[in-house]
Amino acid sequence: MNNKKNIVITGGNRGIGLGLFENLSRDHNVIFTARDRVVAEQIVNKAKNGNTEINYVLMDVNDSQSIAEASEKISQKFKSVDLLFNNAGILLNEYQLPALDTSEKSILDTFNTNTLGVLRVCKFIVPLMKNGGRIINISSGMGQLIEMESGSTAYRISKTALNTITKILSNELIDNNIKVNAICPGWVQTDMGGKNATLTVQESVQRITEFALSKNFPNGKFLRHGEVIPW
Ligand code: NAP
Repeated sequence: MNNKKNIVITGGNRGIGLGLFENLSRDHNVIFTARDRVVAEQIVNKAKNGNTEINYVLMDVNDSQSIAEASEKISQKFKSVDLLFNNAGILLNEYQLPALDTSEKSILDTFNTNTLGVLRVCKFIVPLMKNGGRIINISSGMGQLIEMESGSTAYRISKTALNTITKILSNELIDNNIKVNAICPGWVQTDMGGKNATLTVQESVQRITEFALSKNFPNGKFLRHGEVIPW
């Protein structure tokens, strides 16, 4: 990859996505996605430094039309996309319930955003990766079959399935020189991770950034802090 990358981050308005945006926009051209224009404008105005192209597009990963419109705007800004972070995700309140008490709605809603959302975004952004590219799907250790525990049924299913999509895309896109990996960011202090999480956003995104830009970027792997972990 060249020095200055064209990067797209979904769900870049808070949490890990915002941390990635703040880290990467110092040296790279970054477009983050958000659902709320007012929030997105505040982030852009705070971050503008004149050296890099910083921008946002409105995108709801549950809505193909919204992704199509966002991708059109991205294609006007970037000749090619080098790096895509599929970061947007949800953990609904029912995570405390056992599997048998979890509603179908919460499972389907979570799957729609965390799993299908990634596939929808790839459908529109992959064609913009004209010089090859890298896709990082922000998954979770909670989707790891080897460590599967109880609770958080909807979330766990969505992330295990996201790992499946990661593996399939890694096989299908490698001929276009596009590499696809899933990562676990660790347990991070965000709205989703809560205050007791072990990592600050900055600690987590620093490790993700190093991995994302590393020379030896693998394909079809599941990693945490740059180390391969079992599916
Ligand atoms: P967060 O603070 O709750 O932020 C979630 C982000 O996703 C927000 O920007 C949110 O936008 C966006 N989003 C949710 N639904 C969306 C949709 N339909 N369309 C577009 N954007 C949407 O969560 P986080 O902790 O930063 O998590 C980021 C990713 O890391 C997620 O995929 C999560 O599963 C994963 N992860 C987190 C942890 C952790 O400990 N925090 C651990 C493992 C994995 P709005 O502001 O508009 O809602």
